[in-house]
Order: sequence, then C-alpha cells, then structure tokens
Amino acid sequence: MAIKVCKFGGTSMADGNVIKNVKKIIESDAERRFIVVSAPGKRYSGDTKVTDLLYACHEKLIKEGDCKKAFEPVRTRFCNIVKELNLNFDIASVLDETEERINTEKSEDFTASRGEYLSARIVAEVLGAKFIDAEDVIFFDSDGAFDGKSSYKAISAALSGVERAVFPGFYGKGANGKVKTFSRGGSDISGAVVARAVNASLYENWTDVSGFMACDPRIVDSPKWIKTISYRELRELSYMGANVLHADSIFPVRTANIPIRIKNTFRPEDEGTLICPVSRYTPMGTTVTGIAGKKNFTVIYIEKSLMNSEVGFISKVLDVVADEMIPIEHIPSGIDTMSLVIASDELEGGKLERVLERIKVAVAPDTMRVIENIALIATVGHGMSSSVGTSAKLFNAIASAEINVKMIDQGSSEINIIVGVKNDDYEKCIKAIYNGFFK
Ligand code: ASP
Repeated sequence: MAIKVCKFGGTSMADGNVIKNVKKIIESDAERRFIVVSAPGKRYSGDTKVTDLLYACHEKLIKEGDCKKAFEPVRTRFCNIVKELNLNFDIASVLDETEERINTEKSEDFTASRGEYLSARIVAEVLGAKFIDAEDVIFFDSDGAFDGKSSYKAISAALSGVERAVFPGFYGKGANGKVKTFSRGGSDISGAVVARAVNASLYENWTDVSGFMACDPRIVDSPKWIKTISYRELRELSYMGANVLHADSIFPVRTANIPIRIKNTFRPEDEGTLICPVSRYTPMGTTVTGIAGKKNFTVIYIEKSLMNSEVGFISKVLDVVADEMIPIEHIPSGIDTMSLVIASDELEGGKLERVLERIKVAVAPDTMRVIENIALIATVGHGMSSSVGTSAKLFNAIASAEINVKMIDQGSSEINIIVGVKNDDYEKCIKAIYNGFFK
C-alpha cells in the first residue's frame, strides 16, 4: 500500500478541538501513516505561538538564571490541550521533566524544540501511535547541515514494522550530540525528510490555507488559487516571500520525485495545491503561475569603460563582497556596467560604506552609485519560456501603471523575470502584473 506522510502545522495543533479534527483527517485514510507535527500555533490573532513562548523562556533562563514563570504559559497551553482532548495522559509529569531538562541543557535550540516534542507526545497518545523522537533519527553534520544519509537510514530502521508513528518536527541532533533545530518553520523540512525516508507516494502538508495563491491576497483581492506548481516554480516564489511552505522543504522530496500537497485542516474537502516535478505537471493554462516579491534591497551600480575586456573585474568586486560575508541576490550586468543587488539589512552597521571603499580600491570604477529602498518582484511560470510576448506583456502592464523599472533580471532558466522597483511602488506593481496576466 502507498504511504502518505502528513505534516500538521502550528494552527492544526492550536487547541484540543482542532487536534480532534486532525485525528479524523488521519483516520479517514489508511495511507496516512506517518505524521509530523509542529508546536501549537496561534489560536486567534494576537495570540502567541508556543515556540515564541519557549524562546522567551530561554531568554529568561539566560538573563535571570530561572525560567519558571516564563514556562507557566507553556504549561497551561499543553494542560488545556490534554483536558480538551479528554486524554488520560500524565502531561504534568512530562512537563516537569521538560522544564528540568530546559534548566540543565540551557540551550536555545533545545528549549525551542520542546513545543514540537510535547505536541508529538500528545498526538501519539490521541492516535494510539508510536512516538519517535526526532533527536534519535534526524541528524546534522559538524557544519550544521542536515545529514540525509544517516537520517534516512535511522528513520526507516525506526519505522520497520510500525503501522502508525508520530514525529516532532523542527529539530534533530547535532554532531555534538545536542538537540539542534532547523530554521523557523522547519517542521516542513522534517515532514519532507520523513517522506523521503519512507519513499512516500505523497507528502501532505496540512496548514490553515487551501494552498498557494497566484499572489499575496493582502495586495490583490482573492487572487486565483494555484492548483499545480513545479518544485522549481515554488522555489522561485518561496525564495521571494511566498511563505506557505518553508523554502528548503522541497529539497529532500524533489530528488525522489515525491509530490507535496498543501491541504487545509479547516477545509479538508478543498483540493489544495499540488507541488510536483515538471514531468507530472499539468499547467493551469496560464503563462504565469505566480508573482511574489520582497522589499528593502540596495543596488550598488558600478560603471567602468571597457569593463568587459578587463579580465577578473567582476571577480574582484565579488571577492570584496564575499570577504565581508554579504550574500548577493542578483548581479545584472551590461558591457561596461554591473550592479550588485543586496538585501539592505546585510549592509547595515557601516558595511555599505566599507564595501564601497573596498570596491573603489579593488577596481577603480569610473562611477559608482547606490540606489536604496528597492523592491524585487518575481513573475514565475514554466509557460513564460515557451510563449512569445511574455516580457512585452509584463512590461506593458508595469508601464501602464506608470511604474519606473529600476532593474531587470531574467533567470537563466527562463521561468522567471525579476524586476526591481521603488519600495513605494511594490504593491502597485504586483497588482499591475497580476491584472496583466490573470484578468
Ligand atoms: N514551531 C517552529 C516555529 O514556529 C517550527 C514550525 O512550526 O515549523 O518556527
């Protein structure tokens, strides 16, 4: 029988009643055998996620040597969940042990990981399933990178002969033997890792929305739902800020061609979005699949006559930036010009001035200019490489809205065109592109 791995996010764990629905969802399909859960998220707007409460505990512990008081809201959250579920489970003892270990470990990652740990213990009880601790099966190497080889082996070994199991998301064990977390939202990655380890037929990612929309609904009213999207398109869009799914979570499943389906715990009947390899992709019939963007970039524009014939010019510039440990987003270039597009927060604390000075010394440019407050907007879709007139349509839409384009970069894959506009034009530009392609 095929196996589905299901990851349930924070809002699906928010209280006992939602967890009852989660149980129904899991039990309605015998293929849903391996479950990964997040820590309880917000129950209402203005509520605090358990993970954030735990980060606050760690801060208190380090500053004041004690986190008893800060741990109280975490305790209450989990006690209430167990009560709402009418569960015969001694959560008080598990919470006592947890608090004790938080005090002895004194590690931010360990403390932050306890939301997932406690959620998974509870969900395993609810389902009568086996609890498998992520610290025993998900590993990181000495550089802190996820270690697929040993993790996949350990997960399959732990699951041998197991009908149904629950894993806490978000963390594993580092090379030093201590608990280590992925970055925020990392339970999505844990789900993908388990899916890969068991060679699942599908990785279902259950959240509180019915999939991806073609652009941010806070900018465009009720944009189209994306029914199918390729891994590559999703990577481009999530990198640029579409944040339904952690941007790194496609790596483990992509190499094994395991599709991901985004599903809504609160509307399980909705189809959701299927993320799959290009070979299984059924285009939506539109040229563009989605539009996403981010604000606050800085462009360093460099001009020098005969730049193109000066061997090593670009690499000298890049060496300066690399030496300052600054990541670059894009490097649009012309014959005698090049620009570096960098997230503005990477240039804070005097770094911008230092970089400019060092570039001057390294390559003696004729002109150098800094353009700040730039937003980048990516228009993404496989249809874009095969249809004629896509860029004309894109720039017409932007021009009709009277927006000045500061930078253009077409990815080498031809599935995206990125434009840079003023931060102030960001929302207007997304609206214009959306209307140009979808209306
Ligand atoms: N609970 C963690 C966070 O809030 C991880 C996750 O939810 O995926 O970031």
